[in-house]
Amino acid sequence: MPGNVWEVYAIRYAHHERAARENFMAGDPHDETPMPLDYYVWALKSDDRIFVVDTGFDEAVARQRGRTFLKNPGEGLKAIGIDAARVADVIITHMHYDHCGNHDLFPAARYHLQDREMQFCTGRQMMHSFMRWPFDAEDVAAMIRRLFAGRVVFHNGDEEIAPGLSVHHVGGHTMGMQIVRVNTRRGVIVLASDASHLYANMERGIPYPIAYNVGEVVEGYRRAYDLASSREHVIPGHDPLVLSRYPSPSPELKGWIVRLD
Ligand SMILES: [Zn+2]
Repeated sequence: MPGNVWEVYAIRYAHHERAARENFMAGDPHDETPMPLDYYVWALKSDDRIFVVDTGFDEAVARQRGRTFLKNPGEGLKAIGIDAARVADVIITHMHYDHCGNHDLFPAARYHLQDREMQFCTGRQMMHSFMRWPFDAEDVAAMIRRLFAGRVVFHNGDEEIAPGLSVHHVGGHTMGMQIVRVNTRRGVIVLASDASHLYANMERGIPYPIAYNVGEVVEGYRRAYDLASSREHVIPGHDPLVLSRYPSPSPELKGWIVRLD
């Protein structure tokens, strides 16, 4: 994959204690083994451009949803030298509440989104409470306001959006779920976001229980693996292991921010 070489950061901003049975479809319904989720946003830096991947939720939403809020994603970006107010490009992997909140954090940004995700979160599927609950109407309304301000960039399928950086529609978890492929000094990394919540979902081939299309979820694992330099180059969306497998850019950021490239 030619093009720029990007630095890639994962920034943890929230946490949720839960049991393993909550993270797998067709798992043992009595498996109470602790298997917590972490919540991340990601940042990509090249010589001249910055992309933020997903925007997280804020403290109020964390309270509402019973998640443990750690630090606002804006603070994490600041800690690696990124001023959120000046970020020009945000990629939204999908419109679930934990990926597209903090509406005022990026006033200068264009938001990159798949056509099918906007269709999904504004369409008939939202009439079903089971499909709707991971979405927040305020997030969707905020995206529509951006749309009418000319600040949404729609993608349909696979597109290179900067040299060495592309988005790829996989669907599955949501109708318009997209993953991010990025060229780095150690090869091509794929940010799978919720195309695989945990390493274990893609390794075992067992989807997380929220899915729009289960067949697309398992195909998405294969696709993410195919797009990356190796299976180890695929980064799941919510796995606490990401923080222990990768180094922090400096000692004081340990447990909060890691560098993936
Ligand atoms: Zn998520």
